[in-house]
Amino acid sequence: MVVRAGREFLAIPGPTTMPDEVLRAMHRPAVDIYAGELIAISDSLHADLSRLFRTSGRSYIYISNGHGAWEAALTNVLSRGDKILVLESGRFAVGWGQAAAQLGLETEVLPGSWTGAVRPADVEARLRQDKAGTIKAVLAVQVDTASGVANDVAAIGRAIRAAGHDALFMVDAVASLGCVPFTMDDWSIDVALSASQKGLMTPPGLAFVAAGPRARAAHQKADLRTPYWDWTAREGAEHYQKYAGTPPIHLLYALRQALDMIQAEGLDAIFRRHSLLAEAVRRAVGRWSQAGALSFNIADPAERSDTVTTVRVDGSPGAAELKDFCRDKCGVVLGSGIGALAGAAVRIAHMGHVNAPMVLGTLGVIEVGLMALRIPHGEGGVLAATQWLGETVAA
Ligand SMILES: *Cc1c(COP(=O)(O)O)cnc(C)c1O
Repeated sequence: MVVRAGREFLAIPGPTTMPDEVLRAMHRPAVDIYAGELIAISDSLHADLSRLFRTSGRSYIYISNGHGAWEAALTNVLSRGDKILVLESGRFAVGWGQAAAQLGLETEVLPGSWTGAVRPADVEARLRQDKAGTIKAVLAVQVDTASGVANDVAAIGRAIRAAGHDALFMVDAVASLGCVPFTMDDWSIDVALSASQKGLMTPPGLAFVAAGPRARAAHQKADLRTPYWDWTAREGAEHYQKYAGTPPIHLLYALRQALDMIQAEGLDAIFRRHSLLAEAVRRAVGRWSQAGALSFNIADPAERSDTVTTVRVDGSPGAAELKDFCRDKCGVVLGSGIGALAGAAVRIAHMGHVNAPMVLGTLGVIEVGLMALRIPHGEGGVLAATQWLGETVAA
C-alpha cells in the first residue's frame, strides 16, 4: 500500500523545488546572443547578483555548479604555493580546501567539529600566530549543508580584522544566499560565491562569484588564473566574453524569473519565512527527539541553520529505512546523511521555494514513517510545528 501519486516532493538540500514560473520561463526558443533582449537580461542579472550578495563589487556568472564556483574563486586571486586556511565545520569548507590543494595551494585546516559552528576566537588566535602573513586566504561556508550548521560569518570577518591579518576572506554561500541575511561588504568578505539550485530556486547549472576590491587587487598577480574562470577575460568589451562563450540562455531566463520573484516577495520577508519554517521543523524534531533515537546533529540551537536541518537517527530501522519509507510510500524525498553522517542521518531542506504546506507535509510524512517503522520518537512533532506557526504567523 502506498499513499504516493503525482509529483514527488523533493526535500533534499539542493537541487530544490523550482517555482512553475521559473520552469515556464525556460520554455522558449533560443535567442540571439549578440544583440537583443538577452544582453539587457544578462546585465540586469549581474547587477542584481551583486545586490543580493550586498556588495558594490562585480559579480560573475559561470555555467557551472558550486564546485566550479570554488575553483573560480581560488584561481582568480591565488598563486601556486600560496597558503590558505580552511575553517572546518562539516564537509563543504573542507571539500573546497581539497580542491585548493589539488590546484597546488598549501591547505591548512583549522579543525572544527561536525556538530557545531566555527569558533571565531580560534580563527583570530590562529591568524595572530601567523606573524609573517603566510596565510593568503581564509575559506569558510555560511551554511554547511552536511552538518546543518550556520556559521556566524560576520563574527569570523570581525575576528580576521581583530587579528590585524591581511588574508582574503572567502565565503561559500551556496546553501544560504537568498534565504538568510548575507552582507558581503559589511562583513569584510573579499570573495563570495553561490549557485543557482538551492536558495535561488533555479535549475542546477549556474554559479556566481562576487569580488571585492581587495580580491580584485590580488587578481592582478594571481598565477592560478585560467581562461574559463578568469575575471579579466569576462570583463571584455563583447557581451559574449561574460560567459567565455555561448551564454546559458535558458538558465538566464530562469534566473531572471527567480530573482524577479525574490524581489517581489522582498528579502526581509523571505528571511522571515525561512526562519519561521525552519523553526517549525526544529519544533517537530525537538519533540521527536524526546524518545532517544532522533537528535539534532547541531548541539547548540543558536547554530542550527534556517535552510537545512540534519537529524541523526540511531538504531535499526534508522535513517536509511526512514528515507526509503518517505520516498517510496509517501512521495517525499529527504536528504541522506553525507560525509561523517552517511547512513546515520536524514536532512530536511527548507530553503528556497518553500511554504507551510511543503514543510508541514514533509514533517507529517516523516511522522508517519516514524510510526510505521516503529522508530522510537516523542509524540506530537507535527502538532508542535503547527502550534509554532499558529503563534507566530500573525492573523
Ligand atoms: C551544494 C553545496 C556546494 C556544492 O555545490 P554543487 O553545485 O553541488 O557543486 C558547495 N557548498 C555548499 C555549502 C553546498 O551546500
